[in-house]
Amino acid sequence: MKTIGLIGGMSWESTAHYYTELNRGINSALGGLHSAQILLYSVDFGPIEKLMTKEDWNSIEDIMADAAQKVEKGGADFLLICTNTMHKLTDTVEKAVNIPLLHIADATAQVLVHDKIKKIGLLGTAYTMEQAFYKDRLISKFDLDVITPDEEDRKIIHDIIFNELCLGKLTDQSRKAYINISEKLVQKGARGIILGCTEIGMLLKQKDIDIPLYDTTRIHAAKAVEWALK
Ligand code: GLU
Repeated sequence: MKTIGLIGGMSWESTAHYYTELNRGINSALGGLHSAQILLYSVDFGPIEKLMTKEDWNSIEDIMADAAQKVEKGGADFLLICTNTMHKLTDTVEKAVNIPLLHIADATAQVLVHDKIKKIGLLGTAYTMEQAFYKDRLISKFDLDVITPDEEDRKIIHDIIFNELCLGKLTDQSRKAYINISEKLVQKGARGIILGCTEIGMLLKQKDIDIPLYDTTRIHAAKAVEWALK
């Protein structure tokens, strides 16, 4: 079995789900007392979030490159960044190490292509919904048609992520807001919704809504289990 390297802590609430998903995935494949071989470097998200707000991505690049190198030196065979947003720095992280990066958007898009879904709604942080790094990859590499909520709804989605979900706070009111915004995307033609932030799956579950949900945390972890056993 290969050793799975994780850059986590953004937030630690969602990284805890990665840990569970990876161990469950390996155990269901191998049985017995088998569990995943994992090397996790978990950052302090407080200062990083402040740098994000200032759009000081250069400083965050240094932190991500350093974290990736620590995981590689520890002996990981491949690397996962346990957040969608930080995939903005994919190139930097890939250049910093010699082990492959399992990209969260690629893993998710492969499932969508398999399910023959072309028009898809995307929920995530404002960075993920508004900047090119994530959407363009889905469009240019996988020929998907990606739609996002309007400005007011993007702010609601983003604020709930940082003010509630990253702190482990789950409320019915926020779940209803996410359902309502997802339904608007369905009215615009979306045939599924990408939960493009690793905390959203804590709040919004498939039983809450009829439209197919694509939870990036679970998809990313499932693909990592495949890679670990390849
Ligand atoms: N975990 C979130 C994501 O998947 C948001 C926190 C962050 O910006 O890293 O994008």
